Amino acid sequence: LQNKENYEPFICFYFRKISIDDFDIGRPLGKGKFGNVYLARVKKPQAIVALKVLFKSQMEKEGVEHQLRREIEIQAHLKHPNILRFYNYFHDRKRVFLVLEYAPRGEMYKELQRCGRFDDRRTATYMEEISDALMYCHEKKVIHRDIKPENLLLGYRGELKIADFGWSVHAPSLRRRTMCGTLDYLPPEMIEGHTHSEKVDLWCIGVLCYECLVGNPPFETASHSETYKRIMKVDLKFPKIVSDGARDLISKLLRHNPIDRLPLQSVIDHQWVRANSHRLLPPTCPVKKS
Ligand code: ATP
Ligand code: MG
Repeated sequence: LQNKENYEPFICFYFRKISIDDFDIGRPLGKGKFGNVYLARVKKPQAIVALKVLFKSQMEKEGVEHQLRREIEIQAHLKHPNILRFYNYFHDRKRVFLVLEYAPRGEMYKELQRCGRFDDRRTATYMEEISDALMYCHEKKVIHRDIKPENLLLGYRGELKIADFGWSVHAPSLRRRTMCGTLDYLPPEMIEGHTHSEKVDLWCIGVLCYECLVGNPPFETASHSETYKRIMKVDLKFPKIVSDGARDLISKLLRHNPIDRLPLQSVIDHQWVRANSHRLLPPTCPVKKS
């Protein structure tokens, strides 16, 4: 059973009170910090979704309830072909359930591991898709702040879907991100703990573009402190395989000063993106411009 692109099976489902009994649960799709994500089928009207299960006790232990509330609030208001749709949520005594669009082709991260690296065509397509999605977010004053291949899923036809708004905020922000996980995508202003704006996402898509084409992120080192140093210096080196057009784009995004970074519309209009992107759009979504 595949959801057709224009198909909105959830209209009534949005407004009705729902519970776990409305679903048949299928195989696990992945493991999250606070529980698992499962493939699930809505019984009536039949539709395939992803069901993200979060254990309340674990979230309380880490004090992240507010973060989840924000994730829900933000994601429920975003509707874009390259943003994973959030349909609904419900909870029982022990768990919170998020009903999400199912991304049949899984994580970009796994694809990148499988392929080693992507070619110009595939990377440029992703750059156009993510820029368009982020432009939409930024118009709504939402900054994602956690763009990386682990948080990007792939749709039925391989189109990029931004997922995981757990770190996103309404701009501008003074919040300091706790230093855990990978540093590879952290922009200089977040390392220095300055206020940051939606321009952090521009840095992140520069890192993403590099990682897609090369197979590893640009400032990767064996130690946190060395990675910090390389980010602060914007110590950017390209292997020979990276084309001139891609180098030009990446260099214009990875600028230390946030205001110097190439704006999203200019990423979409960049000659390397225009020459290589093969973006597909669902029929309901008009192509913005040629
Ligand atoms: P983490 O913070 O460690 O990334 P998380 O709690 O944010 O975990 P998610 O990233 O949302 O959890 O989901 C965990 C994994 O489950 C994803 O990396 C992905 O492999 C899979 N997954 C999540 N949502 C979907 C979906 N809608 N469709 C397909 N796979 C999904
Ligand atoms: Mg995640």
